[in-house]
Amino acid sequence: MTQSSNSTPTVGFVSLGCPKAGSDAELILTRLRSEGYEISGSYQGSDLVIVNTCGFIDAAVEESLSAIGEALAENGRVIVTGCLGAKKDSSGHGIVESVHPKVLAVTGPHATEEVMDAVHAHLPKPHDPFIDLLPPQGVRLTPDHFAYLKISEGCNHRCSFCIIPSLRGDLVSRPIGEVMREAEALVDSGVKEILVISQDTSAYGVDVKYRTGFWGGRPVKTKFYDLCNALGELGVWIRLHYVYPYPNVDEVLPLMADGKILPYLDVPFQHANPRILKAMKRPGDAENTLARIRRWRDAVPDLTIRSTFIAGFPGETEEDFEELLGWLSEAQLDRVGCFAYSPVEGAAANALPGLPPEEIREDRKIRLMEHQEDISTQRLERLLDREITVLVDDVDEEGAVARSMGDAPEIDGLVLIPDGEGLEVGEFAKVRVVDVDVHDLYAVPVES
Ligand code: SF4
Repeated sequence: MTQSSNSTPTVGFVSLGCPKAGSDAELILTRLRSEGYEISGSYQGSDLVIVNTCGFIDAAVEESLSAIGEALAENGRVIVTGCLGAKKDSSGHGIVESVHPKVLAVTGPHATEEVMDAVHAHLPKPHDPFIDLLPPQGVRLTPDHFAYLKISEGCNHRCSFCIIPSLRGDLVSRPIGEVMREAEALVDSGVKEILVISQDTSAYGVDVKYRTGFWGGRPVKTKFYDLCNALGELGVWIRLHYVYPYPNVDEVLPLMADGKILPYLDVPFQHANPRILKAMKRPGDAENTLARIRRWRDAVPDLTIRSTFIAGFPGETEEDFEELLGWLSEAQLDRVGCFAYSPVEGAAANALPGLPPEEIREDRKIRLMEHQEDISTQRLERLLDREITVLVDDVDEEGAVARSMGDAPEIDGLVLIPDGEGLEVGEFAKVRVVDVDVHDLYAVPVES
């Protein structure tokens, strides 16, 4: 095995294949350089070698396998990435692993993070006095005690009012090991609440066919349930945002019932009328959705459901809108936001007929929010006289401002504690609820 003689870790790089493979190579090389690794075009003097492969035609497969063989013979420590890494033989085994079982790691194409994980595992990052001044959790814009955790980018849906897929492309899930390591680093730095975000949280892992990754030396699937289960082991509040109402959401309810993740779901239902939902290209069965909500509440009576709706979508009649109000009365959601429909440049919905005039759209938005006020208040009244745990966000001489398990930062209500000046920011505190209004709870500290 050949090691570099200088102290800077050096990675040899061999890239085969088409321009897409070349662009993957650029991403990996950029990351290697930005982390302080040296790059070498030769096997000699490199601490390990990355071979970026092609698997398009038989000749390319042969060329890639022989490049891997050469790198193993000349250097000995080889990480394989690229299209051939994803190819299986007729019995379902990876071609690269079958021919060259001594390689250190194999990934498919577009796998910068996994390649970097493999590099870090076999050749630790050099110390960088500038980068290493940054905390391990990176630079965050949120307070020290809560943080957002982005698990994927892009979206496979094509909701007609939304242009996110055309801006950000289809769903790309982050590797589970990377997500969990980031979550752990956040907890180690003092974070008490992790807010899981994405464009479509419940679809996590669909794009990578729920590929198995590793966290803490054990296999974990890149899958919504498995992610929630693993996050639930970290001992902090885990809050799920942007959950699309798929049936697989049912699976995480037991984790909420067991107290592993917060009994909180942010599910943008958008509407209740089947024709409007179809025009929006959203799942269209409002009856089923009501039944699902009932089942969720049976499983987790204290579940907080937050949702958003669009009023005045093209084609929405007064009857459709009243159907939505009736649905809200039945659904008894805890927290609701509403937007008056407004055309977004590039959205397919712009071509739909029957756009209500702007004043009607705005009026429906106001009516929806007024309709929901009583429902939200009644949902909060369940908490009157109960002792609950809150996370303290702010303390001054006038008391403390905190949030309950049912309150996400910025978008939901607050728990106002006038006698809470003795509490500390970032502390979990027990309080008793003494009053409620439409959005907020009022509480007093409970001596522990
Ligand atoms: S609204 Fe959400 S689910 Fe629909 S396309 Fe946009 S990002 Fe995807």
